[in-house]
Amino acid sequence: IAEVPASPETSQREQAGREIAARVATEAARRRAFAIIAHPDAGKTTLTEKLLLRGGAIQLAGQVRAKGDRRRTRSDWMKIEQDRGISVATSVMTFERDGVVFNLLDTPGHEDFSEDTYRTLTAVDAAVMVIDAAKGIEAQTRKLFEVCRLRDIPIITFINKMDRESRDVFELLDEIEKTLALDVAPVAWPVGAGRGFVGTYDLLEPGLHLMAEGSKAVRLSGLDDPKLDELVKPELAQELRDSAELAGAYQDFDHERFLEGTMTPVYFGSALRDFGIGHLLEGLAKFAPPPRDRPADSRTVTAAEPELTGFVFKIQANMDPNHRDRVAFLRICSGRLQKGMRLRQTRTGKAVPVNAPLFFFAQDRQVAEEAWPGDVVGIANHGILRIGDTLTEREGLNFSGVPSFAPEILRRVMIDDAMAGKKLRTALEQLAEEGVVQLFRPLDGTPPVVGVVGALQLDVLAARLVAEYGVKSRYEGTPWGLMRWVAADDKAAVERFRRSIPHDIAEDHDGALVAFFSSDWRRNRAAEDFPELRFLEVREQH
Ligand code: GDP
Repeated sequence: IAEVPASPETSQREQAGREIAARVATEAARRRAFAIIAHPDAGKTTLTEKLLLRGGAIQLAGQVRAKGDRRRTRSDWMKIEQDRGISVATSVMTFERDGVVFNLLDTPGHEDFSEDTYRTLTAVDAAVMVIDAAKGIEAQTRKLFEVCRLRDIPIITFINKMDRESRDVFELLDEIEKTLALDVAPVAWPVGAGRGFVGTYDLLEPGLHLMAEGSKAVRLSGLDDPKLDELVKPELAQELRDSAELAGAYQDFDHERFLEGTMTPVYFGSALRDFGIGHLLEGLAKFAPPPRDRPADSRTVTAAEPELTGFVFKIQANMDPNHRDRVAFLRICSGRLQKGMRLRQTRTGKAVPVNAPLFFFAQDRQVAEEAWPGDVVGIANHGILRIGDTLTEREGLNFSGVPSFAPEILRRVMIDDAMAGKKLRTALEQLAEEGVVQLFRPLDGTPPVVGVVGALQLDVLAARLVAEYGVKSRYEGTPWGLMRWVAADDKAAVERFRRSIPHDIAEDHDGALVAFFSSDWRRNRAAEDFPELRFLEVREQH
């Protein structure tokens, strides 16, 4: 039976569609979007630098073209951050190695972290947990780990600073297992310790990575290989044989369990001495997943789908002080992004032109011709895009899971110069959109209230108000220690509740109703008095 031939145009279009679909699948498969989580001082910055160096040319062949003027993108307010020696903003760094494209999303590392950190972790598919070998699991490591666990993000562990006096390896591994309830599977094993640390033994593919050899692996047939005794001092070889034997007590690395987030492969090294980084990168390439399926309200989106979808997880204003633009960071979840596309903003149904999607490198940004699942691009806009926004090629779906957390620090923002009131409102709105603070408008008409998760955010806000808007402000305390979003189907109950505490009610930036409470006791009372209402601590945007 002869097939009915398709018209030439149809078959051409189909052919083109198939080619795009194949490219999306290939490009998605070679991408790794990850973050580094660490307690301050564990070595995250040093490791990041060494990873970028290893990535060599920090430019993707054929994909980006340099902008005419390669102006610096660090804005004035980032100086605050430099002066303080802390990282307040989140940036994205892209590098390529052996055909794998790594997108490293930097998370603020200060103890006083903000919601930026949480949101960034919604945009990655894996994380590297850096642990200081002398300190083990620290407070911030645990907090960040818990956020990863909420989303079952697979974690690769890097035990850093092995060149210095460190804690006993078994003790460190046991601590990870116990405090994080996470099974460890060492894939490398240290040879020597402290000043006597010479390298690692590869437990998966037997061999030695030696510091002296620039960490290139020397393959061995196993721990019994007599070559081992030629490569390291006899007493070290013996010590390694004994301790690596005991390492067998830990479970074997199981890729499935790693992907589920219940097991972590463990690497050892020294970021400062540039040791162990190559091995870690190999692990990231081999084990960390390419862009994972993402749940949306109507269905689950798979990275290899040909149509573009993505969500905004971060907004940064005034990256370029000359232009006062606002850049939304879009994590691409599926399909191909092309320069010049018009995307659909699900929240409003409006079209968002993407004329110059930006790729970010350590210092520069460049216009991308196209981008793929797992990539993060910046879209300059004038306040149209919000954190949590889903953008698609056509379909009206919404990704879930970019959360807002109920702030615990609530302050009024006051100004002495009454003329600056309007300016202050605009500034606060823009900075709230960016996620610097949460902004609440009390329904009784009193001055705006800002809420933050960490006190550092208040300093950043005050500094940015002066630097970028010329508004000098001060904070005034409030009687409130907590807030909750108020949700209910029963409109009459909401109205009664509003009337019961007229001065403790406000609207958030999106117009959602919130209530302020002076204490937990008050909140409990409200919950008892108004059983029809729900008081939410976390709000998923849109
Ligand atoms: P971050 O706060 O996690 O970004 O940590 P940094 O990368 O800034 O490192 C904190 C300090 O530890 C710096 O003084 C680094 O030079 C030092 N450091 C980082 N990695 C190593 C390492 O592998 N060995 C040693 N001895 N020091 C390190």
